[in-house]
Amino acid sequence: MNPTNELISPQDGILRDLWETAQAPWQSGVLPSADRLARARASLPTTLPDTGVGFESIQEHVMEDIVPAFNAASISPNYYGFVIGGVTPAALFADNVVSAYDQNVQVHLANHSIVTDVEFNALGLLLDLLQLDRPVWHNGTFTTGATASNILGLACGREHVLRRAAEKKGSLVKSVAEDGLFEVLQALGLSGVQVLSTLPHSSLVKAAGVLGIGRANVHNICRADDPLRFDTERLEAELARTDKASIVAVSCGEINTGRFATTGLEDLSRIRQLCDKYGSWLHVDGAFGIFSRALDDTPEFATIKKGGEGMELVDSITGDGHKLLNVPYDCGFFFCKHPDLGAQIFQNANAAYLTAGSASGPTIPSPLNIGIENSRRFRALPVYASLLAYGKEGYRKMLERQIRLARMIYGWIYEHPQYTALPGSGSKAELLDQTYMNVLFRAKDDALNGELAARINATSQIFVSGTSWQGSPACRIAISNWRVSEQRDFALVTSVLDKVAI
Ligand SMILES: *Cc1c(COP(=O)(O)O)cnc(C)c1O
Repeated sequence: MNPTNELISPQDGILRDLWETAQAPWQSGVLPSADRLARARASLPTTLPDTGVGFESIQEHVMEDIVPAFNAASISPNYYGFVIGGVTPAALFADNVVSAYDQNVQVHLANHSIVTDVEFNALGLLLDLLQLDRPVWHNGTFTTGATASNILGLACGREHVLRRAAEKKGSLVKSVAEDGLFEVLQALGLSGVQVLSTLPHSSLVKAAGVLGIGRANVHNICRADDPLRFDTERLEAELARTDKASIVAVSCGEINTGRFATTGLEDLSRIRQLCDKYGSWLHVDGAFGIFSRALDDTPEFATIKKGGEGMELVDSITGDGHKLLNVPYDCGFFFCKHPDLGAQIFQNANAAYLTAGSASGPTIPSPLNIGIENSRRFRALPVYASLLAYGKEGYRKMLERQIRLARMIYGWIYEHPQYTALPGSGSKAELLDQTYMNVLFRAKDDALNGELAARINATSQIFVSGTSWQGSPACRIAISNWRVSEQRDFALVTSVLDKVAI
């Protein structure tokens, strides 16, 4: 089993059955038919019966009524909505083990279970894939996704920048986690915390809302001529404000274009210097973009590789497992340059029984003291299994195929009389050079453009996200499934786009 070979499904018994069951209902398309949806909806009970229907009956109901009304988002390599990923065979296997054994990965008890060691080990393997230094970054945690990781990142940032400001002022009231946000701001004479970014993902704005920073305090500090990049002069002016503490959030992979907010080490170093000068925190939302670091140094992918360069300089990193890593939902990860900060914020107060057990080897923190949840799923195991099964090479080749397919489609759209490739400036060669695994485009004809995503998705052969770019409707193809095949998928996508343009 190797994701570099296309369309290889699990070979052995139980898993093969599950796999084949999961393939079967969608031969007809990536979305369920209206009939199937209606039948599934009608089958949902209105009350809980006194007497259960029994195991066999519920199996039948789930498989025959509910499952056929699923979409094929993760199953089909031709579902290009959101950034959805898929499930590698190794991850599918491991995830079933996780459910069967239902381990709670909450406290590190070295003599009770191996699970916290495996989680810690999996974080190390991820660092190797992403070419991040183990001595610096071997910490962090698995989360439910990049949204949760962004909450961790902004929570760490908020704590750090206010502690720095308190130190400068000699204030004893300094910790949001301990003293409260309102109390700290008041003691420091600050009006709030702000987050400075370029076209951040909506989840970063949500994180600001959850953390009492406020959605209104997330600001786009984009250049007038390029919404994807920082205007460093304005950035410095904002960082220099004396009434606010600031967190800078780098969009390492902007969700619509797939492009990067920084263009290499020098660019990110400049932002780092500014953050140091003004006591700010530097967070990276690399949900899917961080995986550009898994690529080799070749001219073909040099520009993409530069987009993920310099991550060793930042304070915290968000990444997603259930997207490009192709493990099942829900799985994200978080790394932090300041390993003790997490425990200062997320510790369970006054719970002596929760202290970590000691063992030889690395010091493994109890996950419940460095992240949001107490009881937690063993979501590290599918990551561990899939990384080891396919290795750096398997993942690198998967990503290369995804990028190449995106470039083939983009090049075709660029030449097409009825479509416009977005973001719209630059030559074809420049466009392709900057293409990661997203393709953003619109139809030249306004009437067609208004219903383009709906018309493409109505074919049920492929699915694209309808989005908006600079105020007008646009479509986005995001290629993230491990079963990507350049020739096969290019032929399908272009035939659908040709058909709907008529
Ligand atoms: C998908 C995504 C998120 C949110 O991730 P979830 O896994 O859906 O919580 C955050 N940031 C970026 C850049 C993303 O692509």
